[in-house]
Amino acid sequence: MLKINDLIGKNKKAGTFNQYKIRIFRYNKSGFLSGVVVRKVKTDKDLGRAYTVNIKWGGQLKHDSPVQVSCTCADFSARWRYVLNKHGSYYVGKNMFALNDKSLTDPPVVTNPNMETGVCKHLEFVLNALVHVTDGIK
Ligand SMILES: [Zn+2]
Repeated sequence: MLKINDLIGKNKKAGTFNQYKIRIFRYNKSGFLSGVVVRKVKTDKDLGRAYTVNIKWGGQLKHDSPVQVSCTCADFSARWRYVLNKHGSYYVGKNMFALNDKSLTDPPVVTNPNMETGVCKHLEFVLNALVHVTDGIK
């Protein structure tokens, strides 16, 4: 299983922390967060898009915690899901696609030909926020 450090800091389209906000559905210290990530709105007309993320980790939350993740966005599906699943780091949540989804069986030859490990910008944002908060508490 991959560690949080193996996943964050690699998505060049991640943007900055203050571009997003997260509404948390479920969280428990011992290893689970589920929430929806929304791009911050600038005007009433700019509603942004919302994606559901699930993050499951082992033990105390740290940069080197083993982690399983998923996001409902297209980038996660097209680029990261296959590779993360191979590493045992794909979390199959309620709102996620079924296991027989093509993005789990067909390698991302166009979108991620070198099979790099990483996550979409939504997970990048939440994972970063999570470990920063935890580091601050120590
Ligand atoms: Zn995403």
